[in-house]
Amino acid sequence: MDLIELSLEQSLDHCIKCNICASACPVSAVTDKFPGPKYVGPQAQRFRQAGQPTPDESVDYCSGCRVCNQVCPTGVRIAELNARARAKIVEEKGLPLRNLMLGHSDIIGVLGSGPQAPLANFAANFGPARYVAEKLFGVARKAPFPPFSTYTFRSWVKRRSRRQAQEGGSPTPAAPTASAKKQVVFFHGCATNYYEPHVGKAAIEVLELNGYEVIVAEQGCCGLPLLSNGAFPDAQKYHDYNVEKLYPYVQKGIPIVGTSTSCTLTLKEEAPELLGLHSEPVRAVAENTYDIFEFLRMLHEKGELNTNFKPIERSLPYHAPCQLRAHRIGKPALDIMELIPGLTITDSTAACCGIAGTYGFKQEKYQIGMDVGKPLFDFVRESGSDEALCDSETCRWQITHGSGVASKHPIEILREAYS
Ligand code: SF4
Ligand code: SF4
Ligand code: SF4
Repeated sequence: MDLIELSLEQSLDHCIKCNICASACPVSAVTDKFPGPKYVGPQAQRFRQAGQPTPDESVDYCSGCRVCNQVCPTGVRIAELNARARAKIVEEKGLPLRNLMLGHSDIIGVLGSGPQAPLANFAANFGPARYVAEKLFGVARKAPFPPFSTYTFRSWVKRRSRRQAQEGGSPTPAAPTASAKKQVVFFHGCATNYYEPHVGKAAIEVLELNGYEVIVAEQGCCGLPLLSNGAFPDAQKYHDYNVEKLYPYVQKGIPIVGTSTSCTLTLKEEAPELLGLHSEPVRAVAENTYDIFEFLRMLHEKGELNTNFKPIERSLPYHAPCQLRAHRIGKPALDIMELIPGLTITDSTAACCGIAGTYGFKQEKYQIGMDVGKPLFDFVRESGSDEALCDSETCRWQITHGSGVASKHPIEILREAYS
């Protein structure tokens, strides 16, 4: 038994059967297919002994949103217990083809983004093709696939670096440099690279406006889509690769920041904990990775944040994604956005948008995701705003899908405030 398994097992004994998690779970509230956190988590875990067949498969209906972890008064690690149980099912029965495809968001991104994006976007939105994909593979035909970008974020970084070099400036580095400037590594993740390069551009510009040289290091997918589908050995390959690429920067004292709350959570906690990885490089990368607003808030606390903001006279709804809440850092985007004059942000109290990574893309879970997200969609619609803010990409796509309101990363608003 590894350390994480041991701590999870020990956390079982702390369950006092209070049922608080059962009342808070957004999934069991909308479907009978999921009996709830207490039953599927600590209760079922007692019967999941090594070498025994998996006692139930309803654990696959847990979305991994971690609302249960947040409310459990005794610290039972329910979401992690469920993730491990899912991995055991995959180990015994193999990974279904649909989950394998959804788990490789990087490969989907490579295939769809770039010059072929218009064609890929047409195919991805072509009703009969979506119908066939649903029937053949179980990918929900109504699920909110974002449009592929006609260029990748990394290609934009390369072009920009060339231009900066030609103009005599300092190019955006892809490797450690001997720069005298303060440096930071940007972990862009798959969504920024293949779908939303504008989020990465805004992040780089904000960091540069705060005096940082931004390094866009070699990196791969964070592996979360594979982790959440129970494909632990494949997810570990991604994490090992990222640690190998990022550790040299950490050794030089250069922090890693990301705009995707899922990617940063995976580097910080999800991969090390679920995969039971405890090496010094894994630990060092985890301890030096920050959500971008967490990082900006640290600058502000030290009096180093550029607060030369122009007023933005707008009122916008905001949703803190569950992955951000799992960082246990509060809501740093709210703390920073409140420094922008004229801007009013209304915080959603909704538990979850329902997409939960790849969960809402699955045919049998699509409607559950939409039902879970309904209070959030109503909140966004009733705000009357034409835009909503959220730090996680899949949540943004789900918010727009469910409410009809466009969505942005808060870093885009911050960039606007510096204009
Ligand atoms: S909230 Fe925690 S202690 Fe209460 S039933 Fe759920 S797991 Fe057990
Ligand atoms: S992680 Fe979310 S869906 Fe899963 S048991 Fe906990 S609250 Fe329910
Ligand atoms: S919170 Fe969103 S992606 Fe997550 S599962 Fe919920 S808000 Fe998502």
